[in-house]
Amino acid sequence: MSPSARPPAKTLLQAIKGTHDILPAEARLWQAAEAVAKDHFELYGYREIRTPVFEATELFEKGTGQTSDIVIKEMYTFVDKGGRSITLRPEYTPSIARAIIEHRLYLEPAPLRFYYIGPMFRYDKPQKGRYRQFHQADVEVFGEADPAIDAEVVEMADSLLAKLKVEGVEILINSVGCPKCRPDYLNALRRAAEGKRAEFCPDCQRKIDTNPLRIFDCKVERCRALAARFPLITDSLCRECADHFAGFRSHLEAYGLRYRVEPRLVRGIDYYTKTTFEVVTSHAGQQNAILGGGRYDGLMREYGGPDMCAIGFAMGLERLLEVAKPETKQKRFLYIAYIGEKAKTQAAMLARLFRSKNIECWLEFKNRGLKAQLSRANKLGASWALIVGEDEIRNNRWILKDFSTGRQHEADEVDLVELLLKESSTPGLWPKRNEERP
Ligand code: AMP
Repeated sequence: MSPSARPPAKTLLQAIKGTHDILPAEARLWQAAEAVAKDHFELYGYREIRTPVFEATELFEKGTGQTSDIVIKEMYTFVDKGGRSITLRPEYTPSIARAIIEHRLYLEPAPLRFYYIGPMFRYDKPQKGRYRQFHQADVEVFGEADPAIDAEVVEMADSLLAKLKVEGVEILINSVGCPKCRPDYLNALRRAAEGKRAEFCPDCQRKIDTNPLRIFDCKVERCRALAARFPLITDSLCRECADHFAGFRSHLEAYGLRYRVEPRLVRGIDYYTKTTFEVVTSHAGQQNAILGGGRYDGLMREYGGPDMCAIGFAMGLERLLEVAKPETKQKRFLYIAYIGEKAKTQAAMLARLFRSKNIECWLEFKNRGLKAQLSRANKLGASWALIVGEDEIRNNRWILKDFSTGRQHEADEVDLVELLLKESSTPGLWPKRNEERP
């Protein structure tokens, strides 16, 4: 550093508050969990869909809802150079609904099943388990009205968590009614809250006027105590919603799934109708909701699309990885050590050959001595080292060192490829010391 050069400002070298890096050791767990999730969703007939990270702000205002905390307080919104109001997606459902309408996917035979894994953005107060950029795995089914699908979606979430060895899982369910029965319930809530208006926090006082259902989401102890005496939505459901809820429950029971009806589970998004659910775990500390979702039968119509019902859930991957134990496979790889300039070029050619055969291969251009290269290979956790020197080039035969047995093996590249491929898929094929070679 020249004497005049100043170290960069501290903030320049720190990830923005509420965001975090996923470093290679951790990324392996993410890859493993994501692979399990993708395979699991595909088993149920879901297919991946990918949409842009940002959308028109209006999409979320209209979908997620003007009275939701996400829209009121948490959106990353900016005006782009063309003067348009843009928002980094705080959730995924509006984007999928938009894509279905835009590409007229609703013309395909229903149901449509989609999944997606990617980052979301909310200007929330950062704390453990709550970030400003976080990741979700989402699934959505469009055009399936039967409560059997509500139960299947929950069963899919539950069996995924079992595959990922998440313990202490609890399923919470509720019904938030529909546009036919909810207005009466909201009025009943308003009446109950109005008498105690002054006792609520300012946020909840606003909610009494805008959407009293939201009061159930308040974290303030006093508001929670007051809300505990509110009438329950499960007592005000219309026939259709009550039947749907009963059907949902009986299908959950057919799967043998244990659940708890939580009549105050309204979830923070405006578009839900009928079923809502959450999966929580007793092992995740304060932020214990791993995933949440529900039915949103009115959203497509709200956007000016067809009358198409839908249900889905979003699972938070940061929270999942706090409690999941995805299996990561120990990868076996080859390290190529070379001695001299000529050998460096030969090593590069061999590396290309091995990689073209899907054999993971490391080659570093540091011109270290042989001993240093072998010790580096060992430290990196390589399974084998290949030694390339002048003699080997002349004889066109290479020495492969197996770190687990300490044995050396000399062969040409055709035999080496065969051997490494066998070894990579079924370790242990190599004879141990004193045994005959194949
Ligand atoms: P939601 O989209 O709010 O229904 O949340 C679905 C799931 O996403 C939650 O159960 C959490 O696991 C996760 N989640 C939501 N907000 C955050 C956040 N700010 N940071 C980390 N995970 C989150």
